Amino acid sequence: MALLEKFRQLAEAHEALVRTSTDPFRVTIERILSPTEAIVNGKQMILAGTNNYLGLTFDPECLDAAAKAVYEQGTGTTGSRMANGSFNGHAALERELADFYGRRWCVVFSTGYLANLGVISALTGQEDVILIDADCHASIYDGCRMSGAEVIRFHHNDPGDLHKLLRRLGERCTNTLIIVEGIYSMLGDQAPLSEFVALKKEYGAYLLLDEAHSLGVLGEQGRGLSEAAHVESGIDFIVGTFSKSLGATGGFCVSDHDEMELTRYVSRPYIFTASLCPSVIASTRAALRIIQTRPELRTRLWNNARRLYDRLKELGFKLGPTLSPIVAALFDRREEAITFWNGLLEQGVYVNMILPPAAPEGGSLLRCSVSAAHTEEQIDRICQAFESLRVS
Ligand code: PMP
Repeated sequence: MALLEKFRQLAEAHEALVRTSTDPFRVTIERILSPTEAIVNGKQMILAGTNNYLGLTFDPECLDAAAKAVYEQGTGTTGSRMANGSFNGHAALERELADFYGRRWCVVFSTGYLANLGVISALTGQEDVILIDADCHASIYDGCRMSGAEVIRFHHNDPGDLHKLLRRLGERCTNTLIIVEGIYSMLGDQAPLSEFVALKKEYGAYLLLDEAHSLGVLGEQGRGLSEAAHVESGIDFIVGTFSKSLGATGGFCVSDHDEMELTRYVSRPYIFTASLCPSVIASTRAALRIIQTRPELRTRLWNNARRLYDRLKELGFKLGPTLSPIVAALFDRREEAITFWNGLLEQGVYVNMILPPAAPEGGSLLRCSVSAAHTEEQIDRICQAFESLRVS
């Protein structure tokens, strides 16, 4: 097959999709109005799929911090931290994140995607084994590939399956990194973390937890599932992102292992990319303070999540297994999901459409993510839109 030939099939599939649907991959936010509203395709929409869990993208403290930083320090760092040096803000944010988690070390990366690539590829190599939950995010899979380690998947959220693999690995367990997530991004379900921690301790393996969707969302202080499940000391590495509850972009890893600090010297995704710009660092630091000082945002988020989840369930939609700020409606047929998604757009509600093969078990889903910034009225309007399109 000639080099570019493989795109033909892709182009045909795309053309077939946009014959009957608004192009889901080219939705343009023409004007953002608030964390929960925007003009899309000339129409005012409720944004119901943003990952903006605490609604901090327009928080005055975050805006002020970002604006001050951009005027004082410029628009970008124009280089990597290894070659060009760190700005004070990078080191301060790392210290603040380490303190927030009560850990000795923190390394900040330029995105959450790069954090997974950078940490996994630095920690593991050809001699090592990675045991990965089958439903882990693409960035985790890509990090595994980059590491060159032997990668074995275990059934999603199945400690029994993980146990079987660890038993089989025997002495190699001390060279093994287990990777799971706090809240899973597709269905909003949570890892049975205490059981995973017990297994990693029993077999002397290491455990990495991606709290991308649980930071600021779970735990009394917002430290995620490890806090909520009371197993923080059992997690070796916590990875997270600034692009969801913290309302910016960037990623990080915290750990008590001294080797974490040394990963900076070998982690290519840390070394060979430009560091985060000062305004992003500044707004993220402000958002991290807010996570700790305004727990009422978490209360509001969960109240909104409950309102949406319970109502959609009542209406007969097939949802993820547990209440979560990620509320995913599952559809058996791809075409049904596409029609429904277009119907929601017409009614002024924008959600994420996930089509095969991206969704678990080959299904299609429309994923809402709730924000503390949604009003009850907005949640009710989302529910009404779902109700009006329901095939009864
Ligand atoms: N990990 C998980 C579990 C995610 O869902 C995502 C993003 N959806 C990432 C990592 C990557 O984060 P970012 O978008 O900040 O690069």
